[in-house]
Amino acid sequence: MRRSALYVCLIACLLGWSVLPARANSPTPSYEPIHRIDTQKKVVALTFDDGPDAIYTPKILEVLHRNQVLATFFVLGSQVDKHPRVMQWIYKAGHEIGNHGYHHGDLSKLTEHEVYEDIKRGERSILKTTGVLAQYYRPPGGVMTHDVMNAVQSCGYDIIHWSVDPRDWSLARTASVIARSVKKSVAPGDIILFHDGGLNQRQTVAALQELITDLRSQGYRFVTVSQLLDAAK
Ligand SMILES: [Zn+2]
Repeated sequence: MRRSALYVCLIACLLGWSVLPARANSPTPSYEPIHRIDTQKKVVALTFDDGPDAIYTPKILEVLHRNQVLATFFVLGSQVDKHPRVMQWIYKAGHEIGNHGYHHGDLSKLTEHEVYEDIKRGERSILKTTGVLAQYYRPPGGVMTHDVMNAVQSCGYDIIHWSVDPRDWSLARTASVIARSVKKSVAPGDIILFHDGGLNQRQTVAALQELITDLRSQGYRFVTVSQLLDAAK
């Protein structure tokens, strides 16, 4: 019997089967990016990348405050270090803070260790400035390689992408083009991508008010990424 058990084990090993006990189920972060959630509820999440910016982030915060809207800011550690007061303003206004890494480099050219270091450096900047340990990571450009996934897994973040991209960074886009492109495609459970840092954020600020007014008139509520994920449960 012992010999036959050994043969089974050897065959299993040759076939690549695992003879080790399965790892116990535990609540682990998701390493597949989350683009949106399925829900009938009219909720969407506004997200802002690449800040904090000294000029545009305060303007966006004012629009959000005026409309009593909470959003999620995927901040860059390098920008947090440059503008810590703006970062604290985001936090004190009650918005959710996500990690967008430190340098906004091209992740496809980085090793797993370099991606890991970039995420952790961004994490430290956020933690030092606000005391918040961010829960969500958004890779710059949405780049997903095996190295990125392994690095994010080691850091313990959920990856948040988006489902609506009005390309508000494009200098060719006016505020009404940006607002219209969101209104045309938005659906319950969407995650909308904006930028509070970059080149064209004057148009983003103008589009934001128009969009909030219009989507509210359609019955939409604006929530943070955490609240959106809770709505899926
Ligand atoms: Zn970005």
